[in-house]
Amino acid sequence: MDLGVTELKDYMYLALATEQGVRGYAAATTHLVEEARQRHNTAPTATVALGRALTAAALMGGLLKVGQRVALKWEGTGPLRKIVVEADSNGSLRGYVAEPDVDLPLVAGEYDVPAAIGQAGLLTVVRDLGLPELAEGTVHLVTSDIGGDLAFFLEQSDQVATAVEIGVALNEDGSVAAAGGILIQPLPPYEAGTVEQLKERLQEMPPITALLAEGQKPETILDEVFRDLKHTLLSKYPVRFECNCSRERTYEALVSLGREEIQSILDGEGQATVNCRYCHEEYVFTREDLEGILATM
Ligand code: ZN
Repeated sequence: MDLGVTELKDYMYLALATEQGVRGYAAATTHLVEEARQRHNTAPTATVALGRALTAAALMGGLLKVGQRVALKWEGTGPLRKIVVEADSNGSLRGYVAEPDVDLPLVAGEYDVPAAIGQAGLLTVVRDLGLPELAEGTVHLVTSDIGGDLAFFLEQSDQVATAVEIGVALNEDGSVAAAGGILIQPLPPYEAGTVEQLKERLQEMPPITALLAEGQKPETILDEVFRDLKHTLLSKYPVRFECNCSRERTYEALVSLGREEIQSILDGEGQATVNCRYCHEEYVFTREDLEGILATM
């Protein structure tokens, strides 16, 4: 599926204020969230929830070292049921929401993501740090609005004071007008003071979606957040929606179903249509393909 929105328009910047021991990441994710919306055909509330989660994954991806991966999963009692997003250290992101049709009435002009996710539930973060075992942490949802839950996870599970702001704004036709996020953390030894100060600064500033919509970029937004601190801007790098599924991998998954299951697909539908959960790419295996698989078993 080529949607023509995959050029490197979205990117992240890192600001470092070493003297005060704090770092901040800012990401513009407008294009990749719009690509996710088109791929999954999400309704507005689901678009905002998935877009915020993808932006959270982008920010978490910024904390990774080369070759590492992170997956975040929100599971709640609300109608969206589940959101799963993944990021790697190269800025590749993918994700899906279990119920893409969910759309709720606005509350005070805001998309009601907390009701869509549900007040009760869990955020699970799984990190592949290249070690023999995956690092997994879980917290209860506290805000069910994505950004607040991510900050709570980082404070509770990682024990690092963190300021997070994530936003997704839509156009009237439901397409994505602006999406992005900021994550601020102390550098070791992790003193929380400066982060608290920058959290207040973030709250005084207009929402990140408003800044992005008026044409500001991640680097100018970081400059504004860090304006009272001596800081340097580092390493612009692209973030994009990119799934690692392929026809070959899907073929292998079909083979692993076994002879009986493949025969029953042949007897039933006569062909197999497999949609990737993460990117909604469709892979069709014809009768000849399936008979070819059986012939190799
Ligand atoms: Zn895929």
